[in-house]
Amino acid sequence: MWMLRIDMTDRSYKLEAVVERYQKLGGRGLTSTLVYDEVAPTCHPLGPNNKLVFSAGILSGTPAPSSARISIGGKSPLTGGIKESNAGTGFAPALAKMRIKGLVIEGMPAEKGEYWMIHLTWNGAKPKVEFLPAAEYVGEDLYVSYAKLYARFGKRVHVAGVGKAGELGYRNSCVAFNDMRRKPTRFSGRGGLGAVMASKGLKFVVLNSEGAPGVEYADKELFMQGAKKLRAALGEHALTKPQGALNTYGTCVLVNIINEAGAFPTRNFRTGRFAGAAKISGEAIFENNKQRLGREIYNHACSPGCVIQCSNTVYAENGEEIVSCVEYESDWALGADCGIDDLDAIAKMVKLCNA
Ligand code: SF4
Repeated sequence: MWMLRIDMTDRSYKLEAVVERYQKLGGRGLTSTLVYDEVAPTCHPLGPNNKLVFSAGILSGTPAPSSARISIGGKSPLTGGIKESNAGTGFAPALAKMRIKGLVIEGMPAEKGEYWMIHLTWNGAKPKVEFLPAAEYVGEDLYVSYAKLYARFGKRVHVAGVGKAGELGYRNSCVAFNDMRRKPTRFSGRGGLGAVMASKGLKFVVLNSEGAPGVEYADKELFMQGAKKLRAALGEHALTKPQGALNTYGTCVLVNIINEAGAFPTRNFRTGRFAGAAKISGEAIFENNKQRLGREIYNHACSPGCVIQCSNTVYAENGEEIVSCVEYESDWALGADCGIDDLDAIAKMVKLCNA
């Protein structure tokens, strides 16, 4: 496996062997350890000495269920600490398939405001990087940009990108990954890492793993047995089975539960109970959709190989999709915490944040 280091200062890259300290790490274990090892705690998070690290979870790229998770790490412009932010996306298994354990973005271009994209492909023997200008996408709605990128690079690529919030250096900006429909709806949302990516002049990473060898197994047969067992267990549990709690109500299934426990973030964290909780719950999303579409809608997978399939879609009264998906966190942050109990309004705000 490799560490792929990309220096945005002169747009160069190098492939390194993975040092022993990182060999058994992946995902947040790797991103946080590498940031701890290599990023000076006193550096400015949006300056050249911060690093942005992408790493797939250690089971990504295998048939282990729900393992298509990517972790991003760096010094957070929001907290000043080591940040880990996670998303479910096909980007993760594609990175693992190329045997890239860590993708480390370093430095920053001397010319401020210049944006580039990294086009990462497999050259037959190892990963190959091209740097392409990305000025034409700056300031654009990510839904528009992702459609253009898929038209340009083909349907098999995976994309990580930053939108306007990142370009403007917002400390709450995210990195957007593609979902199964190739839309920018899967977010590494914590800690403002979108601003870190944008500060490096990096607008997109477009990854095409076609031809790459895939992950290595120590004992493939044993691994497949374990994965099968795990898939079967998830398929039977009330929380994770088809038409179970998560597949029916999504992560917003937590709204009523946590509200009852008195810990639902409400009105800027002043209380833990929200009178309108039931109106913005996962149950309400399911019932609204059923009423508006005239049929029951169950949730879908955000990434390949997920058997839980917890990603919801919120539909408008006219049956058109408002957004996919409204997660528990966005539900309370844009809803209860602002005193808003209007599900459609919350869904529209999520869509705005996605852009
Ligand atoms: S659909 Fe839900 S359970 Fe499945 S990987 Fe995505 S976030 Fe996790």
